[in-house]
Amino acid sequence: MLKIGCHLSSAKGFLAMGQEIVRLGGNTFQFFTRNPRGSKAKALDQEGIAAYLAFAEAHGLFPALAHAPYTLNACAARPEVLEFARETMADDLARLEYLPGSMYNFHPGSHVGQGTDTGVRRIAALLNAILREEQHTTVLLETMAGKGSEVGGRFEELRAILEQVELKHRVGVCLDTCHVYDGGYDIVDGLEAVLEEFDRVIGLNRLRAVHLNDSMNPMGSHKDRHQKLGEGAIGMEAVGRIVNHPALRELPFYLETPNDLPGYAREIAAVQAVYREEEG
Ligand code: FE
Ligand code: FE
Ligand code: ZN
Repeated sequence: MLKIGCHLSSAKGFLAMGQEIVRLGGNTFQFFTRNPRGSKAKALDQEGIAAYLAFAEAHGLFPALAHAPYTLNACAARPEVLEFARETMADDLARLEYLPGSMYNFHPGSHVGQGTDTGVRRIAALLNAILREEQHTTVLLETMAGKGSEVGGRFEELRAILEQVELKHRVGVCLDTCHVYDGGYDIVDGLEAVLEEFDRVIGLNRLRAVHLNDSMNPMGSHKDRHQKLGEGAIGMEAVGRIVNHPALRELPFYLETPNDLPGYAREIAAVQAVYREEEG
């Protein structure tokens, strides 16, 4: 069964997000755990959660994907910036315990001149500091476009982080189609080869979610500019191959395209139209 949704604003709480995604025709959604600027404002309202969980159960929604504020830098050079990332992520993980089955996606970070190896070491050290055996949330490293000094633009960099994480069963990867294409992986004309490479370097068993976005720029641009599905360099034919690929078709897909809500409803319907339900 196709698991599809989009990024929603968490301003009105969980029940509102659940109701919104049902209106849009989806069955899962992504949300920021707090204002992307990283403020202390809470998004995970405990009371709202019970009503949301009942609603999700009644409507057959799949667990939502939490996204860390993208302004955090888990491999910052400045100690106070690093400490802020560690505290925020630890707090998010504690709150996510109230949302069964959720996953927590984050951008690995930017090494800001320290070099990739140092960046990788810092990210793994931060994860080792916050991951708890008794917590249930799977933390996902997002594949990045390789913009500036971003870590995670190459599969090898994500593998290096995963190798240094102690609680390996608590971490996975979220593949962003815009980012990998922008990072130089040809998912349009060589999807099979890219997934083979992902499997060889990271392991497809680590892949837990897909950000389904088109890209404004050609392959390898390293610019990270999302486009509406079918209106960018990736195109709707490639999107069809992506959502139907045996290695991906069971994963949840999240749209992060530049859209208003009616636009998301149209894109969700467009993905549903190209998805082949398996018989039997
Ligand atoms: Fe992201
Ligand atoms: Fe993304
Ligand atoms: Zn992006």
